[in-house]
Amino acid sequence: MGRYVYDFAEGNKDQKDLLGGKGANLAEMTRLGLPVPPGFTITTEACRAYLADGREPDSLGEEIDRHLALLEQTMGRTLGDPDDPLLVSVRSGAKFSMPGMMDTVLNIGLNDRSVEGLVRQSGGNERFAWDSYRRLLSMFGETVLGVHKDAFEDEIDRLKAERGAGSDLDLTADDLRELTRAYERTIREHTGRDFPQDPREQLALAVRAVFDSWNTERATIYRRRERIPTDLGTAVNVGTMVFGNGGMDSGTGVAFTRDPATGAQGVYGDYLQNAQGEDVVAGIRNTVPLHDLETIDKACFDQLMDIMATLEHHYRDLCDIEFTIEHGKLWMLQTRVGKRTAQAAFRIAVELVDEGLIDMDEALQRVTGAQLATLMFPQFNSEHERHLLGRGMNASPGAAVGKAVFDSTTAAEWAARGEDVILVRRETNPDDLKGMVAATGILTSRGGKTSHAAVVARGMGRTCVCGAESLDVDVKARRFTTSDGTVVSEGDVISINGTTGEVWQGEVPVMASHVVRHFEGDTSTDEATVRAVARVMDHADKRRRLGVHANADTPDDAARARRFGAQGIGLCRTEHMFLGDRRELVEHFIIAETKEEHDAALDALLPLQRKDFLGIFEAMDGLPVTVRLIDPPLHEFLPDMTDLAVLVAHEDDAGQADSKHHKMLEAVKRMHEQNPMLGLRGVRLGIAMPGLFAMQTRAILEAAAERMTAGGDPRPEIMVPLVATAEEFELVRAEIEKVAAEVNEEAGFEVPYAVGTMIELPRAVLAADSIAKTAQFFSFGTNDLTQMTWGFSRDDVESSFFSAYLDKGIFPVSPFETLDRDGVGALVRYAVEKGRAVRPDLHLGVCGEHGGDPESIHFFDEVGLDYVSCSPFRVPVARLEAGRASA
Ligand code: ADP
Ligand code: MG
Ligand code: MG
Repeated sequence: MGRYVYDFAEGNKDQKDLLGGKGANLAEMTRLGLPVPPGFTITTEACRAYLADGREPDSLGEEIDRHLALLEQTMGRTLGDPDDPLLVSVRSGAKFSMPGMMDTVLNIGLNDRSVEGLVRQSGGNERFAWDSYRRLLSMFGETVLGVHKDAFEDEIDRLKAERGAGSDLDLTADDLRELTRAYERTIREHTGRDFPQDPREQLALAVRAVFDSWNTERATIYRRRERIPTDLGTAVNVGTMVFGNGGMDSGTGVAFTRDPATGAQGVYGDYLQNAQGEDVVAGIRNTVPLHDLETIDKACFDQLMDIMATLEHHYRDLCDIEFTIEHGKLWMLQTRVGKRTAQAAFRIAVELVDEGLIDMDEALQRVTGAQLATLMFPQFNSEHERHLLGRGMNASPGAAVGKAVFDSTTAAEWAARGEDVILVRRETNPDDLKGMVAATGILTSRGGKTSHAAVVARGMGRTCVCGAESLDVDVKARRFTTSDGTVVSEGDVISINGTTGEVWQGEVPVMASHVVRHFEGDTSTDEATVRAVARVMDHADKRRRLGVHANADTPDDAARARRFGAQGIGLCRTEHMFLGDRRELVEHFIIAETKEEHDAALDALLPLQRKDFLGIFEAMDGLPVTVRLIDPPLHEFLPDMTDLAVLVAHEDDAGQADSKHHKMLEAVKRMHEQNPMLGLRGVRLGIAMPGLFAMQTRAILEAAAERMTAGGDPRPEIMVPLVATAEEFELVRAEIEKVAAEVNEEAGFEVPYAVGTMIELPRAVLAADSIAKTAQFFSFGTNDLTQMTWGFSRDDVESSFFSAYLDKGIFPVSPFETLDRDGVGALVRYAVEKGRAVRPDLHLGVCGEHGGDPESIHFFDEVGLDYVSCSPFRVPVARLEAGRASA
């Protein structure tokens, strides 16, 4: 029989699995001797047991009673005592922080009698006591009893209107008592029962509500997005209430030990006087910057600064903090290692190194390839003519352009049909999550950098501008009005800059990011972020074992990839060398009836392709260039069968029959396939279409010879696609060797080259040992290998049944995005072992999309590939992740 309850004084920060993040950190702060209101944590194990059995474990109630009794003894007060009540908060806290996902109930223990006790306890502060009670009713009503919060908001709005009150602070004690009565009625009307007066029952129901909140829709959506396992459960924290709403010498606030948006050093946060709980983040009144606390209450401010320094040193990272001041006494209510933007992540990591708190290996672990990718997003072009609609806070960086929409449902619908939308709200709450996920950007007119919108957007990497107060947002009318009277209605395009907080009318063109400009060799950008990225990248390069090559088909792409740090081309597709003007030559080749016509078509293609390779070898001088012989089915280069049939019929009717068109039509019909992806493509083309691969080989090697004559250092590697058996590969390799001998002879010197194969068919995996006898390298074509292993057509599935598969959790992410370790990954591992057993120096790489995917890169490192190859823009991401894999 396990224990289900731990006192705050018992745990520590490493017990997140059991105590949840909040509980573990409350325990840690208690252990550090910081002022944390005493309390206890009900474990995630209790939650799991409750969710599994549909009821609390037998011993739980009794354990809670024991810890409650201890707490009452410590505090010298009894829960809900009519004369001198102890009040507690009930707060959820899972292992991974899920902002705004779970619900908190404050002031548990108040009822019609103990509210009078609270008046006495507070020295006759009636307003405070009734304010606390009405808050309990609305929080409990909403969270525990499931009453929609609008029901409570309507009541307070009505009362404020009646009293002509601008804010809740203008309501008197009598007003709040009246509001409490109204809330009691609201609860009765909506639930058919009374608010429970028994404090212990309040506590039990609140704990159960927290357990239940694990499975709410919004929590489920968030977990799926963040790939948080669904079976962890949440802990529940029960803590002594401290009050920020007892007067102007009290208040509540949120703080960060560094700026979570930019990473800049210094102290950031928001403070609200005479307020409780989530008033700060809910944006109900305007907060003041944390720095103002220095003038409001210097002693508390100084103590808070000390504590923040302690926490940052202790956690060796940016911390975020929730605190409350009760009549000039500071209380710590929460801390955790804080979320931050990508930009901030890099900057904070290297600055912590400079401050001696962590080393570079640790810094490398503090950033991710996904974060680097967001920093490579384009930014707005500031030169462009544009109209500023307003300005808010730079809550989450990036440049987002889209149609303004004013509710979550519309956002989700429009996004589903492929539109970019910006979700515009006065403020957001957890119900808006669906729309926030769907939107490319989020804009609010209220709330600070710690508002719900800001926190959630940062977590998701969404661009967000919040608190743009000059915008008058009218959600019902689906429009907002700016201070100069401009009206933006649903569907109008706007551009928001989450890095500066600016909001622009229409579409503002975007340009390359500073980080990309740095990678491109531009030395004029000297931002802190750019410097930080450069240092982290240097270290990643030092640490990584995996090479990083690029998929590039043109000299321009090759040159860019090289600037981005590519150490070669891992996949140079040759398809484009048959397109454009050259299509006609391909047609000639296909309809050729005599050997002369056939050879003439290939001879005409040869010099054109030689020139293509020349440019690529020049751009990649001294580095390997892996050229894939032509792979796609040839019909892709021919006219569409139906179009051609119509043309021929027309010409025939008009008595203008064209024999070339007739021949083309016949050829196209002959080559038509039901399933071209499983048809005449890859190595099969080389075998069925004599001369084709030989021409390509000649173009490659002659270009290499020409580069050598010019003093260059070309490193061609010829790669045969879609091989299934050693015999296929052997036939092609023999042909390549024959051409190579001819080219060497003509050049009068040896042109170095290697011949290898793609491994992209399950059969090739199984035959890897026999193929490796003659292949010098393998490159895993994981796109086809995934397609062929699962039997999925990549071009079709993503739009058909994949969403159902993802929803049902059959896979957490598309196997075309992240390599399926257990299936396709097992094949890769097998081929590596088989191949290396035969040829220990077999060179191994991967050239599918997975080569640029962080999680897959870690797998490729683990199975011992030599390099990954990915698109030029992913090269820095791959370098970083390869470094993280080894550090
Ligand atoms: P979240 O997980 O959404 O951050 P919390 O459990 O931190 O929710 O609760 C929200 C807020 O409620 C806290 O930031 C704090 O202001 C207030 N709160 C929670 N516990 C207490 C307490 N014991 N005394 C006073 N205020 C509290
Ligand atoms: Mg909350
Ligand atoms: Mg909190």
